[in-house]
Amino acid sequence: DILANKIAAGEVVERPASVVKELVENSIDAGSTTIKVEVEEAGLRKIKITDNGSGMSADDCERAFLRHATSKIRSENDLFHVKTLGFRGEALASIAAVSRLTIKTSTGEEAGTQLILDGGKIVEKDRTDARQGTEISVEHLFYNTPARLKHMKTIHTELGHITDVMNRLSLANPHIRFELYHNDKQLFQSNGRGDLIQIIAQIYGVSVAKKMLKIECKTLDYQITGYISKPEVTRSSRNYMSTIINGRYIRSIPLNHAILKGYHTLLPIGKSPIVVLQIEMDPILVDVNVHPAKLEVRFSKERELYQAIEETVREVFRKETL
Ligand code: ADP
Ligand code: MG
Repeated sequence: DILANKIAAGEVVERPASVVKELVENSIDAGSTTIKVEVEEAGLRKIKITDNGSGMSADDCERAFLRHATSKIRSENDLFHVKTLGFRGEALASIAAVSRLTIKTSTGEEAGTQLILDGGKIVEKDRTDARQGTEISVEHLFYNTPARLKHMKTIHTELGHITDVMNRLSLANPHIRFELYHNDKQLFQSNGRGDLIQIIAQIYGVSVAKKMLKIECKTLDYQITGYISKPEVTRSSRNYMSTIINGRYIRSIPLNHAILKGYHTLLPIGKSPIVVLQIEMDPILVDVNVHPAKLEVRFSKERELYQAIEETVREVFRKETL
């Protein structure tokens, strides 16, 4: 089923940053508290992720590379209560299909497993040491899909996408310690102590962090927390608006709109705030199975949600101007 995996790769693995996103999300789902990402040439030469999560047994590890192999969903009903970032069982098979991939993994109880896959086929199987966790190296990404390779932008652009993914994953997971290295140089580190404003300071600078207002609001269905910049700190792009639903960062134009509406006339035209909004809700209220990369979601009570967000933001500024 190598061909099917290559086709699926086209949807899931657009560029090196998508590989980083999928692998780090797997590490998060595995309960890791430390996740290290090392890339070379913006990931086109190598992407290596090391985590201290649950690890896998030898059998589970081989199974993980089969298409639609997921340990996270067992029944159709589970699909409506997704609490993990992954559930489609596509990422590992897709990434392996378009690269040379080495995985070392151990549950910590027995000797670990090492597999090497080339274009999705297992070419080597071995035992490794028993340090609990998983290490995955992806080399020569897209070597067997030249059309995709040709679409890669400059190192600078691809690295920008990787940094963006890492920023958002750390904003969404303040309790996890993240490290990012490019060609052996450290680009980013979060301490995993759970302090969101500290991560904001790391990403956007201390002076920005000092001008952020705290958001805290609880309605019947939603718990909305985070930080939003005062109207004097703006950006010309909406790229600085991060919305996180149940720990998953998503892209949603209407959600961004709701935030902007809350600002009302306070925001200069064409400007956007820096904002990190974490929204917790019953998983039954959000459908995450809309988009292969899971960046888009559907809400069952969307009007209520947008209203709540708009109100919450407005309230923050009402208090501020008092
Ligand atoms: P999904 O995340 O949708 O389940 P993936 O293809 O991304 O599918 O991963 C397949 C399976 O491999 C996961 O369900 C999980 O059981 C296992 N897995 C992947 N990465 C890790 C990891 N870093 N630590 C432990 N298990 C992992
Ligand atoms: Mg996954």
